[in-house]
Amino acid sequence: MNKNILITGGAGFIGSALIRYIISNTENTVINIDKLTYAGNLDSLKSVETNVRYIFKQVDICDSKQIRNIFDKYQPDLVMHLAAESHVDRSIDTPAEFIKTNIFGTYVLLEETRSYLSNLGSNKKKKFRFHHISTDEVYGDLEHEDKLFTETTSYAPSSPYSASKASSDHLVRAWQRTYKLPTIITNCSNNYGPYQFPEKLIPTIILNSIEGKKIPVYGTGKQIRDWLFVDDHARALLDVAFNGNIGETYNIGGHNELQNIEVVKIICSILDELSPCKLKNISKYEELITFVDDRPGHDTRYAIDASKIEKDLGWTPNENFSSGIKKTVEWYLQNIEWCKKAVERNDKYNNMGDSK
Ligand code: NAD
Repeated sequence: MNKNILITGGAGFIGSALIRYIISNTENTVINIDKLTYAGNLDSLKSVETNVRYIFKQVDICDSKQIRNIFDKYQPDLVMHLAAESHVDRSIDTPAEFIKTNIFGTYVLLEETRSYLSNLGSNKKKKFRFHHISTDEVYGDLEHEDKLFTETTSYAPSSPYSASKASSDHLVRAWQRTYKLPTIITNCSNNYGPYQFPEKLIPTIILNSIEGKKIPVYGTGKQIRDWLFVDDHARALLDVAFNGNIGETYNIGGHNELQNIEVVKIICSILDELSPCKLKNISKYEELITFVDDRPGHDTRYAIDASKIEKDLGWTPNENFSSGIKKTVEWYLQNIEWCKKAVERNDKYNNMGDSK
């Protein structure tokens, strides 16, 4: 049976990939609610905006009245909760919004879901799911080469961002245990791919290179991250939402552990091939690399054990880092306009904030 899927944060990087995937590959209807912060970008949803199975409403998840109206009007069968403040550097500079959206906003959604379910017919109630989308950063970092994050690894978040996401995970588990809310949680490693806001690592490397700007690398660049192509994440999310078990957590990862400096060098060499450097005094993009002071509290290594989702639900990533990063670099080279508009909107959004 086709479902009404309520997606929060669907104008963001992962949310928009998820919506494009659902509209193209299933018959389900999507109700996208997004506050449209600097990170929310409706240009990322141009390919689906006229589809009859796609609805957008500009809503803040902290606004319980608006959330209640959305539940009443669209009667969702599934909630996929992605809305969040998501950039670690911003969380260090201005943590308040992270606490508000990621913790209080999740609380509002849980309470409104609880109230909605209390009036729902038993058949629809039995099939309903609340899927909370989270990050591997809740686990803190790994010191030993041989260790991986599993679903039972203790939480040890390091940044205001990861602490706020960890708090939201705890709320979701508590609402499942206490109120029997049918929740599922996923914790995913670093995503990359088309339509990611230019401030994040991979778009920054690509865009700075082609503009001839310095490529900033934190500390020694030896921090290790596990990278997953965003469309693989979207597919995993749907597999979990449709086939995962209530109360379970699933880790999602790409088996692509790389040092940040390795990622930078791989991208530079793809750019050397696809768009050879024409800058004065520089023959290869790698020469733009500049090491900058490390981020406070910077985690050394994240690495996900994704064997549970593979074993229980049969999900595996389609892309390895070489294939996914090539597609990503090609996309950015062909979509410079999207990037410029995203940055302009960000400047406008921040100025609006300042004038309040
Ligand atoms: P993003 O910053 O690109 O998008 C977040 C979206 O949420 C934006 O569209 C923004 O407008 C919206 N939003 C923010 N505050 C809101 C509010 N109060 N009400 C309604 N909408 C609001 O983030 P992303 O990279 O797409 O991440 C999506 C989710 O996945 C987040 O919960 C994040 O923690 C999680 N996650 C991200 C990654 C990653 O590598 N990007 C990895 C694992 C998990």
